[in-house]
Amino acid sequence: MRVINFNAGPAGLPLPALEKARDELLDYQGTGMSIMEHSHRGKAYDAVHQDAIARLTRLVGIPDTHQVLFLTGGASMQFAQVPMNFLSAGKSADYVLTGVWAEKAFDEAKLVGTARVAASTKGDDGRYLRVPAQAELKLDPQAAYVHTTSNNTIYGTQFHAFLDTGAVPHVCDMSSDFLWRPLDVSRFAFVYAGAQKNLGPSGVLVAVAHRGFLGRGRVDLPKFLRYSTHAKESSLYNTPPTLAIYLVRNVLEWIEGQGGLPAMERRNRAKAALLYGALDRLSGFYRAPVEKPSRSVMNIVFRCPSEALDEKFVSEAAKAGMVGLKGHRSAGGIRVSAYNAVSESDIDTLVSFMESFAKSNG
Ligand SMILES: *Cc1c(COP(=O)(O)O)cnc(C)c1O
Repeated sequence: MRVINFNAGPAGLPLPALEKARDELLDYQGTGMSIMEHSHRGKAYDAVHQDAIARLTRLVGIPDTHQVLFLTGGASMQFAQVPMNFLSAGKSADYVLTGVWAEKAFDEAKLVGTARVAASTKGDDGRYLRVPAQAELKLDPQAAYVHTTSNNTIYGTQFHAFLDTGAVPHVCDMSSDFLWRPLDVSRFAFVYAGAQKNLGPSGVLVAVAHRGFLGRGRVDLPKFLRYSTHAKESSLYNTPPTLAIYLVRNVLEWIEGQGGLPAMERRNRAKAALLYGALDRLSGFYRAPVEKPSRSVMNIVFRCPSEALDEKFVSEAAKAGMVGLKGHRSAGGIRVSAYNAVSESDIDTLVSFMESFAKSNG
């Protein structure tokens, strides 16, 4: 039996995408082998690869100015690879600090070259409970790029309107923010997202890059580290994670079948409204620390009146068939990750549990 999975990443996948993979596992479309046993240069896999790119392009409406890339090493690799490619000597890059992942990206950039903080919402206690407003951004107009994190998976904050970076190229870590709503990628020079949050299994990262921006990348890097290498070879420079890309393709097909990104957005907003509605109603028991305008639709964090009750909440929820609710080890409390694969009825079940838990422990 499948549980209700609120994991933050790797996260639950839509059942039809998994069922399709199961049905095709031993014999992919009459070829007598699974897709992961096919050559990445062969016809069968190439069709999957191109289909994944085509579906993503269609779903998001990616213009010709931009290119889809499948990369490896996760978002953590991008933290290093972005400055390696775009932060050349004599240049400086701007970073917007909104959480743990943003700090990690900034730390990597400082190892490569000069990086400065364009805005930070770190509180005196070290926590990040909101994202900055446009007016707080102190941008260096000469910056090589500005890096932001659109959804802060650990603290549960999110940009509901993206920052305007003017003429400075905008690089964005959208790992936990990708494909839950329509997205205008033309505003960005480089967007990246590890698949394991909202679009597939771990092992592959999806980037959408402005072709002109890629053209500005350093060429004095080992070939593999240059984005231009992967762009030129349509993400087939070396053996890509074929099974992961196949699963991403299945997830994209599912999203299209559900009505695309507008349908995802309606559903995700309804889920978040149910959860935050419950937290506001039960505010005598639960505490939701994030400032309201910065509340994330994807990762909803809260606390019970004590750490002991947080633990009890997590263990009793698990007994009721709901897993993945423990907050990140650096933040504590409870975190509900409500990515695309989590249904409204899953959230209804959780809200009922939250109500009865508050009643019997308040
Ligand atoms: C999960 C996550 C990461 C780290 O991803 P890895 O694939 O483990 O490197 C980075 N940024 C954000 C916003 C994330 O949610």
